[in-house]
Amino acid sequence: MRGTGRRTGYALPAGGRDPCSSGHGASRPRGVGQAVPPPAHGAGASTPRAVDRVLRRLPRALPVILLLVLMAFAAVLAAGRGWWAQIAGPGDPRPLVVASTTILADLATQVGGPRVRVHSLLAPGQDPHSYEPVPRDALAVHRAHLVLLNGYGLDLWAERLLDARPDRRALPRVVRVAEAVDADPLPWPGDPGRADPHLWMDPVRVMGYVDVIRDALIGIDPAGAAFYRRQADRYRAELAELDRWIARQVAAVPPERRLLVTTHDAYRYFGRRYGLRVVDTVWGISTEEEPSAADLARLMGNLRRYGVPAFVESTINPKLMEELAAQAGVPIGGRLYADSVGPPGSGAETYLGMMRHNVRVITAALRSGR
Ligand SMILES: [Zn+2]
Repeated sequence: MRGTGRRTGYALPAGGRDPCSSGHGASRPRGVGQAVPPPAHGAGASTPRAVDRVLRRLPRALPVILLLVLMAFAAVLAAGRGWWAQIAGPGDPRPLVVASTTILADLATQVGGPRVRVHSLLAPGQDPHSYEPVPRDALAVHRAHLVLLNGYGLDLWAERLLDARPDRRALPRVVRVAEAVDADPLPWPGDPGRADPHLWMDPVRVMGYVDVIRDALIGIDPAGAAFYRRQADRYRAELAELDRWIARQVAAVPPERRLLVTTHDAYRYFGRRYGLRVVDTVWGISTEEEPSAADLARLMGNLRRYGVPAFVESTINPKLMEELAAQAGVPIGGRLYADSVGPPGSGAETYLGMMRHNVRVITAALRSGR
C-alpha cells in the first residue's frame, strides 16, 4: 500500500539477443530489431540436421556471444561507476555528507552550499518509514564524512547500516538532527514513550535543524565555519519568511474548517504551529503498521461528520484514501509532501518548495469547500 516510489537497481541494457537464433544461411549476427523467424517445426526439419546446423554455426557465433557478454558487463560497470562517481566524487576533495531523507539532504545543501557534496539515501517519493536499504546505501555510508539522520525512530534502517560497517574505527560523524534539536517532541497518540519524528513539518523547528546541521558541518570542515554561519543565517531568514507566509495563508481559512484528514499522521507539528487540527488519518505516525478495520470505520465516520477534503501523499499509495473519501462523499483535496521533497521539476524539490506547495493545496481545498 505504500512506497510507491521505491528505488530499483540498474538494469542490464535491453535488446541483447541470442545470435544463435539467426536465420537460415546467416553468416553474421542478426541486427537488433530484425525479425526472428519462427523455429522450423514442420515435417522437413529433422532433429539431427538442426543439431548439425547449430554445431556448424557455433564457432562463428561464439565470438559474438562473448562480445555481447562483455558489452553487458561493461554496461553494468559503467552504470555502477556512474552512481558511484556521483556519491564519491573521485578527485573531489570536498567532504561527503550523506543524509537519510531528501529533506535532510536539501537542508544540508542549503547550509553547505558548494563546500560539501550531499547525497540522499532516499530518492524523492520514497517512504522513510518502510525503506529497505540497497547495497549502494552501505557504500555511501561507508564513504561519508558526516551522516545526517532524523532520529526518533524514523530512519532505523540507516542506523542498522552504520552498525553493520565492518571497520568500527573509521565511523563517520553521525548526527540525529531532530534528536539534537531542543524542540520538546510531541508524543505518539496513545504512546507517550515514543516521539513523533515529523518535526520538520514546523519551519520554526527546522531553524533548529539548520543550527544542528551548521555545527555538524563546522565539525567536519572547520575552515568553512564563517561560510556555514552565513549560509545558515540566510536560510533561517527564508524559514522565518515561510513561517509568516503560512500563518497568513491559514488565516484566510474559516476557523471551523481548519481541519486536516491526511493519509498518515505527519502533520501534528504543522497543525500545532498554525492552528489546524488533525482530525484523523489512514495510517498512524509510521506507515509500517496497517490500519485495522476499526481504524478505517472510525476514519469513515470522521470524514462524514466533518465533511472536509481528505489529502493524499507523495510517498504513500493513494488508493485506500481515495476509496474511503469516495464512500464518505468527500473530495480529495490534493496531494501533499510530508516525508519527502518532490521530484526535480515539481516545484516541491526543496523543503521551502514542498511546504509552499502543501500550504497552497491545503488552504485552497479548505477555503473552497471542495
Ligand atoms: Zn512520516
